[in-house]
Amino acid sequence: MKFFKSKYKFNPDTLQYEKIKFSFKRFLLRLLPHSIASTVFGAILMILYIVIFESPEEKFLRAENEYLKENLNKINERLVKDDKILEEIAQRDNYIYRTTFQQDTIPSTIRNAGVGGSDRYKHLDGFESTDIVKDVAKKLDQVENKLNIQSLSYNVIIKELKKRDKLYKSLPVLQPIHANELTRIGSFYGYRPHPILGVVHMHHGLDLVAPTGTPVYASGDGTVVDIERNNTGSGYGNSILIDHGIDGLSSRYAHLSSIDIKAGQKVKRGQFIGRVGSTGLSTAPHLHYEILIYGATINPLRYMIAPTPDEYEQIIKLAEYPGVSFD
Ligand SMILES: [Zn+2]
Repeated sequence: MKFFKSKYKFNPDTLQYEKIKFSFKRFLLRLLPHSIASTVFGAILMILYIVIFESPEEKFLRAENEYLKENLNKINERLVKDDKILEEIAQRDNYIYRTTFQQDTIPSTIRNAGVGGSDRYKHLDGFESTDIVKDVAKKLDQVENKLNIQSLSYNVIIKELKKRDKLYKSLPVLQPIHANELTRIGSFYGYRPHPILGVVHMHHGLDLVAPTGTPVYASGDGTVVDIERNNTGSGYGNSILIDHGIDGLSSRYAHLSSIDIKAGQKVKRGQFIGRVGSTGLSTAPHLHYEILIYGATINPLRYMIAPTPDEYEQIIKLAEYPGVSFD
């Protein structure tokens, strides 16, 4: 059988049937509708197959997708809880710590400030899970922002604590003679007749009467800025001046029998610095104790605290050991 059948066409001019020559192009044109139909049919079959049956790989991907979405939702819920905890910490920070240390509270507008604009999350667009991924990203940013602000806030408070710790330790509040050793207060701050000169005279300190050789202790942390050794029977005699490094405060210890510290040395409250004597312009063994603010004396009783003998022992012991420090 011939594969290509010959075709004939009637010619009205010659009144004859003439054989039509074979054309490949015409052949293809005739074939076209069949091939289109079969392609479409094939495609429909394939789609039906895909819709009805899933490949194992597709099944796995679908399951994994579900798993990821479910866990993203759980992470989202946990971030909401974390945010609430941070909110409570912020409240405590504002109304307890910052208030206690006289710091301005941090406004919630700063604590809850959003991070960046909407463009920040644009790269997450275009997927079925975009919403949940964006939500998690936003919440994470918010939590991180709050954590950073909280951390900075604590830095400020720790700095303030260190400052206060230094301030409290430096204040010249300790009575420089042990409670057990102090006989009496011989003379107070103010105008009084001078025991030697006999005229009314401003007495710039507090006279703490105690036997010669009684230990004298620094009233607050500071630096020894001046030591005077004077056995001429005038003025302060042997004396120590300690600068406390805050608010221009310094303290002077005069008429000492011995000086047991060097100029420039750092001292702690309760540290042994010398012994009671009667050097300088003095009639009997006592410690002449002054507190000065920027070089002008004030009444030491405005600062001085007399601890009980037991407390005094503890303070002296504390001064002997390097204590716990914030810096
Ligand atoms: Zn005096």
